[in-house]
Amino acid sequence: MALKTTTLAPILATIRPLSLSMHELEVELAFPPEAVAEGAVAALPAWTPGSYLVRDYARLLDRLKVVDGLGQPRPTEKVDKQSWRLAPSASGLTVTYRLFCNELTVRTNHADATHAHLVGAATFLYLEGQGGRPYLVRFEGFPKGWRVATSLPRRDGAYLAVDHDTLVDSPFELGTFRKHAFHLRGCEFQLAVTGQHPGDEARIVEVTEAIVGVCARIFGGFPFHRYLFLLTFSPRQRGGLEHRDCTSLLADPQQLERSEGYWDLFTLIAHEFFHVWNVKRMRDKVLGPFDYRGEVVTRLLWFHEGFTSFMQYVIVLKAGAVPWHWVARKLGASWTDNLGRAGRMEQSLEEASFDAWIRHYKPSEFSANSTVNYYDKGAMVAWMLDADLRLASEGARGLEDFFGLLWERCGDGPLGDEELRGAFRDLAGRDPGPFWSRYIQGRAELDASAIEKAYGLRLAAKAPWETLTGSDAEDLDALRRARTYAGLTFQGNGPAIQNVAPGSPAARAGLGYGMEIVAVDGWRTASAQEVQNRIGDGAPGDIFEVLASDRGRVGSYVLTLGENPLRTTYISADAKATAGQKAAFQAWTGQPFPARRS
Ligand SMILES: [Zn+2]
Repeated sequence: MALKTTTLAPILATIRPLSLSMHELEVELAFPPEAVAEGAVAALPAWTPGSYLVRDYARLLDRLKVVDGLGQPRPTEKVDKQSWRLAPSASGLTVTYRLFCNELTVRTNHADATHAHLVGAATFLYLEGQGGRPYLVRFEGFPKGWRVATSLPRRDGAYLAVDHDTLVDSPFELGTFRKHAFHLRGCEFQLAVTGQHPGDEARIVEVTEAIVGVCARIFGGFPFHRYLFLLTFSPRQRGGLEHRDCTSLLADPQQLERSEGYWDLFTLIAHEFFHVWNVKRMRDKVLGPFDYRGEVVTRLLWFHEGFTSFMQYVIVLKAGAVPWHWVARKLGASWTDNLGRAGRMEQSLEEASFDAWIRHYKPSEFSANSTVNYYDKGAMVAWMLDADLRLASEGARGLEDFFGLLWERCGDGPLGDEELRGAFRDLAGRDPGPFWSRYIQGRAELDASAIEKAYGLRLAAKAPWETLTGSDAEDLDALRRARTYAGLTFQGNGPAIQNVAPGSPAARAGLGYGMEIVAVDGWRTASAQEVQNRIGDGAPGDIFEVLASDRGRVGSYVLTLGENPLRTTYISADAKATAGQKAAFQAWTGQPFPARRS
């Protein structure tokens, strides 16, 4: 894309380490005279796009000082939690401040002696009403040998962001990362990989190329000239954040010791890369340009995140990066999670999207009973819609054609529910109303019939006692234990209750969030496992005396066990699948119809 041109004088940003071991950086911003001659308000965003939580990055900024172009100190007034009023100056103003960077995630700053990952929203002040002003960013004083990876172009020895939105959308990675590159359809792709891992990095690059190739086929090419993958390995981490021309990814190095770990990483890469189109370009109108002062709400996260969470599997399957049996297990797990979640009766996908800021990003013990996950349920609804499109086209078209059509119609611009319904109407040849009112605006149960019919699959819901294998399946005790149900989940390994399923035996007994079960039938229980073992000694209908501590008082509760209502969804190939169903499966996944039960 041609760079936007601007005649505004740029803000010159310089970033220096203060103490890397203390995770401290200094930022200097030189505002040109024209920007501050009449005074201005400088602010730090409260949040960063793609992660819908007010993070108040300003809490990690201090020692703010202002001098004018003649080097004279100038007063400032802090006007709200994240904004400072700058005095008028005809000679320009230079603002410096300290940043604390000690949170390694894809949406926060992290700097230490090995690297720095900088998020624009957490780093750079912007001038209110002057978001269109460009920035030139320089780095000074970092350890010898460190390099910079960013999707921003070089200009005059610095990195140029044409405006503040672009700066926020272009994270920086500094350090001694390993660089990889490939070219496809005239575009350059770079990977900057940080951190040690025991895996095969060449394989990651190769599969990334295949993933990128599948997306190019869906959308007919790429909407950029250069794209950057920032991939950082750090123990017990997983995350991704999408940007227009790059993505930040975090992965656990240990996951590369198992095949599943690679498959999971490939799926994450596919997910974030698909966002190049879905959410970074085709997007709800509030999702760019952004208001950084506070919450920006959209009803479309079921589409932006849920549908992307379905397409991630289509992409890795078509790229030949993962086996079908693994995807079948993941899709089955999402189906199972949704059916086991009481909140599915309380909240629609549209409502879950709208409330993402206060619910999905602020989970509580109430979440499972009051919300749906717009990622998981959105993906399952995407699959149902995909199957509907297959059935309407004798297997020829699916969700990727839905995306191709949307891209043709909306391209790099805003899109709303009307455009989504319109694309469905035109591809399926019928009114989208009933589907939308059931599954997107309503709370109807997921329905697998179109998926089964389109692809020759079976989605079987099995009770816990039907899933026992080997000698367990013959063991009467194991069968009885699988049948018993209290409706309790615990916080980690301890005996404190995390959740009580509505209407369950535990709910009827009067047990609740946060209580600690100290004994079952007179036997001391010190862990969740001990509670489960004691309860597991019973059968549906058996009565237990449970002692539980609640805010320091121990009470007695009568628990009558029930039969386990939870079901696990298993996805398998139908032995009687027709040639048409098998062809549709192949059109969907790019893989042959599974030969045996998977
Ligand atoms: Zn996403």
